[in-house]
Amino acid sequence: MPLRNARGEVTHFAAIERDITAQKAEVSVLRELATTDPLTGVLNRRGFSEHAQGRLAGALRDGQELSLAMIDIDFFKRINDTHGHEVGDQALIHLAGLLRTSFRESDVIGRLGGEEFAVLLPGATLDQSRVLMDRFRTRLATTPLRLHDGRWLGFTASIGVAELDPEKASLATLTKAADSALYAAKHSGRNRVYLAP
Ligand code: GH3
Ligand code: MG
Ligand code: MG
Repeated sequence: MPLRNARGEVTHFAAIERDITAQKAEVSVLRELATTDPLTGVLNRRGFSEHAQGRLAGALRDGQELSLAMIDIDFFKRINDTHGHEVGDQALIHLAGLLRTSFRESDVIGRLGGEEFAVLLPGATLDQSRVLMDRFRTRLATTPLRLHDGRWLGFTASIGVAELDPEKASLATLTKAADSALYAAKHSGRNRVYLAP
């Protein structure tokens, strides 16, 4: 029996190997598209939770600390309403850029939807994360976005942080705790970092 490739053509091992290599490259491009937020270039919700699940399992196995920060832009609707949706999009890109240059390569950054982002910090305790996230919050608050007409747009974000509890270890539990802390940060005035109890 002659060997045939995916298109049914008779072929040789070397050609089949080239086919497989090309298919693997296509799969990896598709996977990247499916897990990346096209606007900001950070992981989307699906990509974030895949990476986060892996890191969480690693932290539990190695007995390592791990924290999760949820970040939500303050009064984002007002930015859209005042300056238009395009400037809103620019603000999201601005925030993602600051996130990328504020944390380690090994930290996981995602846009979970709308104007909500998350950072997973493997190896960081709650207290260390508070320091890191407060530094980030200050950096955002003091780094305005330059608009096309030359004006500057300043905005802030509220942040909730929770640390992995090995007794109740699931991404859902951790996310819920960080979310409640974010909610408390919003309700106590915004532009602040709150820690889950
Ligand atoms: P808070 O301080 O309580 O977080 O108020 P907020 O205005 O930031 O929050 P709210 O949930 O009321 O508004 C979020 C807005 O985000 C509403 C929605 O139109 C906008 N939004 C969601 N996704 C996008 C997007 O991809 N681009 C732009 N420009 N806006 C978006
Ligand atoms: Mg908001
Ligand atoms: Mg929101």
